[in-house]
Amino acid sequence: MKEKKLERLTDAVYFMPPEEETDRPVLAAICGRERTLIMDAGNSASHASLLLEALAERQITKLHAVVLTHCHWDHVFGADRLNLPVIAHLQTKQALENMAKLSWTDEALDERVREGSEFLFCADMIKKEFAHNRDILIRLPDQTFTDKLDIDLGGVRCTVEHVGGDHSSDSTVIYVAEEGRAGGVLFLGDCMYPDLGGKYTVQAVLDLLEKLDRYDADCYVLSHEMPLSRNEYLEYSGLLKLLCSITVEAEGELHRILQEYTRRVGKEPGEIELEAIHCFVNGWTAK
Ligand SMILES: [Zn+2]
Repeated sequence: MKEKKLERLTDAVYFMPPEEETDRPVLAAICGRERTLIMDAGNSASHASLLLEALAERQITKLHAVVLTHCHWDHVFGADRLNLPVIAHLQTKQALENMAKLSWTDEALDERVREGSEFLFCADMIKKEFAHNRDILIRLPDQTFTDKLDIDLGGVRCTVEHVGGDHSSDSTVIYVAEEGRAGGVLFLGDCMYPDLGGKYTVQAVLDLLEKLDRYDADCYVLSHEMPLSRNEYLEYSGLLKLLCSITVEAEGELHRILQEYTRRVGKEPGEIELEAIHCFVNGWTAK
């Protein structure tokens, strides 16, 4: 596996890029004068170790806590190795309490996939990340919140807000405002992605985007891709808003959505747009 290094995003923000091979999400360090906050714990002890080594190399110290963006395995399994106080939404804590009771052997994962309580994609990625050494210790959050939490790192203020959405109802974003910097950085976790079964529901997407639009950010970090500029984010959220409107108008019918998309945009949907359209169709029929 090619190891990703820590990259600098702004004066205060460093991030480790995602790795598709075993679904490792972005990890980040938000560095104030007094304290450093870590965003997400990684998908394993080895992923978390990479972050700790990279931080040591850059002489980033004063590690204060790790904030979890949501409860999915790839964002939380590294928390025990980080060995920092864990801050998470109350729902994230409740989900982790349930996950802590589970076994992660191949057999247990296969059984949960069969009974429908685990997604095949996640089970496959866990097997790939851990091979046979499943040293999975779920660390439970030390501090929880239900709506919003402000963390002052010294010259850098973080707002941690629960936003929910289709992907995971506990989804939380972190907005970083740095002294002397006009725009902020918004860590989105996976909140803009569909649920793991491939569903977008119109109301949940609209509610989510309304919350995200309140932030004045010039840099947006989705956990499984490289950071986006404000324009790239607006393009993405604009597509989702357009598809919400078309899905309602076409009453969730695929062929009508495709027709209406082509009429409004002036060209047929590409691969990314098609994938999103299918998620809206799935979400509509699942209503
Ligand atoms: Zn996720």
